[in-house]
Amino acid sequence: MRLARFKHGNRIAYGILQDGVVEEISSTPFLPFDVTGVTYDLQDVRLLSPCVPSKVIGIAMNYRDHVEEMGKPIPDYPTFFYKPSTSVVGPGDRVVRPPGSKQLDYEGELAVVVASVARSVSLGRYDEVVLGYTCGIDATARDLQRIDSQWGRAKGFDSSAPLGPWIETEADPSNLVLTTKLNGEVRQSSTTSMMIFNVSALITFVSAYVTLLPGDVILTGTPAGIGPMEPGDQLSVEIEGIGSLEVSVADSPGPR
Ligand code: MG
Repeated sequence: MRLARFKHGNRIAYGILQDGVVEEISSTPFLPFDVTGVTYDLQDVRLLSPCVPSKVIGIAMNYRDHVEEMGKPIPDYPTFFYKPSTSVVGPGDRVVRPPGSKQLDYEGELAVVVASVARSVSLGRYDEVVLGYTCGIDATARDLQRIDSQWGRAKGFDSSAPLGPWIETEADPSNLVLTTKLNGEVRQSSTTSMMIFNVSALITFVSAYVTLLPGDVILTGTPAGIGPMEPGDQLSVEIEGIGSLEVSVADSPGPR
């Protein structure tokens, strides 16, 4: 099942997407819901980020090929960081390069959407707390990341966490092809089977320290092939069996 969050006129709602039609649901996908019978053609709505997380948790150095390209050792445990709720944007939105940065990198990632309150989840029980999967981008101001001792602004700036286009509830996250294209050219091509810590291990590790809330997102790390994007560029992250998330890049308008 594909669950979308959408805007039609001034109305924002969630719905089930099938064959180019969105059928509105009575609640959010994080509570019991019914279909309302109200339908919209996909072309008549604007898709939004498919969830509204209280926090996005990013995983660093989680693909073997990416760890190699960065010249780092294979980690013994996952390192995670936070992207605030205000970093989330949706399909078709812009990633705005933050002030002071000249190197804004794309990182295409599988995004896990949490279904229910999750704390100290046992290994192998991740399925009980995961609603589904979507495409994510961990936009990173690489130059700011290098000079700062924490990644608060380099990875947490506004618009640094595009998510979408919808939540696929039936994907198996263990071996999905992930392709990132910049202006139509393939820049990242890998599979989620290259993860050092899989989704199950990540949920167990993170939830041992941090309670995950419905709608929270874990960005599971990026494969090899990261690189810079410039204002005016078009970026897409496509994940097999899920869909394709497309955004554009803009430069900071500066202070106002
Ligand atoms: Mg990343």
